[in-house]
Amino acid sequence: MPDSYDSLFIGGEWVRPRSPAVIEVHSASTGERIGQAPEASEADVDAAVAAARQAFDDPAGWSQWEPAERGAALARLADELESRGEEIGRRVSAQNGMPIALSPTIEGMTPVGTIRYVVGLLANAPVEEEVPRFLGGKLIIRREPVGVVGAIVPWNYPQTLASFKYAPALAAGCTVVLKPSPETVLDSYVFADAVLAAGLPAGVINIVPGGRELGAYLVQHPDIDKVAFTGSTAAGRQIAEVCGRLLRPVSLELGGKSAGIILDDADLDLAKIGQDLFAATLVNNGQTCYASTRILAPRSRYDEVVDTIAAFASSLPVGDALDPATLIGPLVSERQRDRVERYIAKGSSDGARLVAGGGRPAGLPGGWFVEPTVFADVDNASVIAQEEIFGPVLSVIGYTDTDDAIRLANESDYGLGGSVWTSDPERAKDVYRRVRTGTMGINSFLPDPAGPWGGVKSSGIGRELGPGAVAAYQQLKTVYA
Ligand code: NAD
Repeated sequence: MPDSYDSLFIGGEWVRPRSPAVIEVHSASTGERIGQAPEASEADVDAAVAAARQAFDDPAGWSQWEPAERGAALARLADELESRGEEIGRRVSAQNGMPIALSPTIEGMTPVGTIRYVVGLLANAPVEEEVPRFLGGKLIIRREPVGVVGAIVPWNYPQTLASFKYAPALAAGCTVVLKPSPETVLDSYVFADAVLAAGLPAGVINIVPGGRELGAYLVQHPDIDKVAFTGSTAAGRQIAEVCGRLLRPVSLELGGKSAGIILDDADLDLAKIGQDLFAATLVNNGQTCYASTRILAPRSRYDEVVDTIAAFASSLPVGDALDPATLIGPLVSERQRDRVERYIAKGSSDGARLVAGGGRPAGLPGGWFVEPTVFADVDNASVIAQEEIFGPVLSVIGYTDTDDAIRLANESDYGLGGSVWTSDPERAKDVYRRVRTGTMGINSFLPDPAGPWGGVKSSGIGRELGPGAVAAYQQLKTVYA
């Protein structure tokens, strides 16, 4: 039974779209049509921004509520989402191929945790603070919400990445226009349902599904005060240019090509590290921005690392994303599978040695599957080591000593994630301090709302989450009292 919709969530209600265009959604696992939703038009974006503007400017509205009142409303939203976690997981898995073994937890529950974390921040952050003047007397520092936020998210973790934006933005008193990707639009209807059930005021959240042109229209809209973007580096550059010209605040969470640095004392027993290795490398079929896809292996244990990584990849059950036994599902679309297959061909033609996968799995004819794939003897300067593949493909790269490993890790345009694998905490510290990146994991990689999230270099500008999550959606006003 397809999940089909004919209205948009704007101004706190379901409204008729202003254009007949529709987005057809297909199962990543079978290619079958599983639903449809209206594609928002520019006129719909205008209406959504106007609703968000009105909700923000209302003198008795959301932005003027006491933080505790906003916190209570957000806590209700967290509860409503929690009760819909399974359904959100199912829809995300059907659309983008994330295994159902993961999606109710990742996509269903991460937003719940994120909202509860920012509600906790609200309790400890006064909006107005009196502080002593340096030159004698006193002054007042106010934290005011930045305004109407345009939030644009990709398809790989649609609900999680949306929550990284709307949760702190709403906590700060901002209002939001959210643009989901066309690949994952069905889950946004469950989210809208939760917003309604939580009783958030009209216009505080508005949803406009559509593609990149619609995103570009939202970014430059005159009534948007801040843009929060997660997606590719190429799109991030275009958005940064527009926001630079408009002097519009923007946060950019972009691509990655992170290094998993295996030190020579690392435990390579898959029975012990398999789950953590999965979390750090191939989770969500490799469609993960922070994944450690460059495995840096010490020359002294090179063959052992190659064998371990190849055995690990080959052991992961590949199948329909809705099958609970699946750990590697399909890629989101035919286009994405073609792209991944081109990279696999390029790896082979550039001289890397294929040690696992490389093809399409047998018995899964309908969807966009690629076998978990491992290349050994990869040159760190080669295309497959430098470009983001966004599929289940790992490259093993040899290094001589720790300095060499750090050099290789840092020889990348990106700097989003990374991991170090060792049995010595002091050696882990030496490594994580020297890698130029926004986040690192020790013997795993598991993001948390309390940790600032974001990248350096071409992986983006700004941080989401962490203690500064709400502050990122506030402006400071000084009053010389
Ligand atoms: P994408 O850049 O093609 O699209 C992302 C979103 O931006 C979509 O909603 C799209 O419609 C919209 N968009 C595209 N071009 C736009 C433009 N010029 N102006 C406004 N909106 C535009 O990326 P994708 O293929 O959907 O997602 C995968 C990318 O996202 C990968 O590069 C991945 O690394 C990155 N990502 C980063 C993080 C992070 O936290 N840093 C997290 C997840 C994904």
